[in-house]
Amino acid sequence: MKVILAKPRGFCAGVERAIEIVERALEKYGAPVYVRHEIVHNRHVVDNLRAKGARFVDELDEIPLGGITVFSAHGVSQRVEDDAALRSLPVIDATCPLVSKVHHEAQRYAGAGRDIVLIGHDGHPEVEGTMGRIDGKVYLVATPEDVALLNVRDPEQLAYVTQTTLSVDDTRSVIEALKERFPNIIGPDTRDICYATQNRQGAVRELAKRADLILVVGAQNSSNSNRLREIASEMGVRAYLIADGSVLDPAWLEGVHAVGVTAGASAPEHLVQQLVDRLGELGATEVEILPGVDENVRFRMPAELADAVA
Ligand code: SF4
Repeated sequence: MKVILAKPRGFCAGVERAIEIVERALEKYGAPVYVRHEIVHNRHVVDNLRAKGARFVDELDEIPLGGITVFSAHGVSQRVEDDAALRSLPVIDATCPLVSKVHHEAQRYAGAGRDIVLIGHDGHPEVEGTMGRIDGKVYLVATPEDVALLNVRDPEQLAYVTQTTLSVDDTRSVIEALKERFPNIIGPDTRDICYATQNRQGAVRELAKRADLILVVGAQNSSNSNRLREIASEMGVRAYLIADGSVLDPAWLEGVHAVGVTAGASAPEHLVQQLVDRLGELGATEVEILPGVDENVRFRMPAELADAVA
């Protein structure tokens, strides 16, 4: 049995930046540093930061006066930002710049008098943040069927934006449905789906051409990881989303000659390596890395942490 690794896989620039923000904040200000929600969707990352002194909270009222407060990579609504200001919390914003870009885009459309259709998954923190950044009417859709049911105020004054971690193909079909129903709608096509999501989806497609089983390392609540598993399944390859190698069921490997491995944007590489080791114990004798896109995206640290080390 052979292991084939996708490239790229795992951490994206937004996740690396968010984790480094918490680490630098701990270094500069000392523990505890309060993080609103999971900094990124990965329990291993969260546990590791917790061990270093980060405290994860659901809401701002759990943070004591003056507590250093970090907003997660998924972004927050204007209300959360205003609440933090009201409570005079010193905030460090770890929102991925590519999520902030979508916020600005949506605000620009709304400022020009358009109602916004947000393509995204109900309940995801990024979607809550983006919806809460738009002054005015927002309609949330996830599928072409949702588009068919939309009841809008003015079909002539619409714009759409999307969540950053969607399936490119699914999003394209939702955009087509929107354009068919509302020919004057404007939007960024699939460009809101970030480079990391697009690259990992391209890589899992290549993997699916070669593997007869695909394992995606990532959290169950990670949107981009779920999309990777779905794409592999859509291409006819059995695929599982697993938190780490410890939950791998050896029965999955029966009759398998090539196991494809990839990881969502919030899954650390050491979990991939741990899975590869486990596959080695279960009979894999060779590891191949597929050729793929070299990523060299890096985002700047917030100014207040520029002088701190992680
Ligand atoms: S998946 Fe994309 S949008 Fe999300 S944190 Fe990573 S780079 Fe940013």
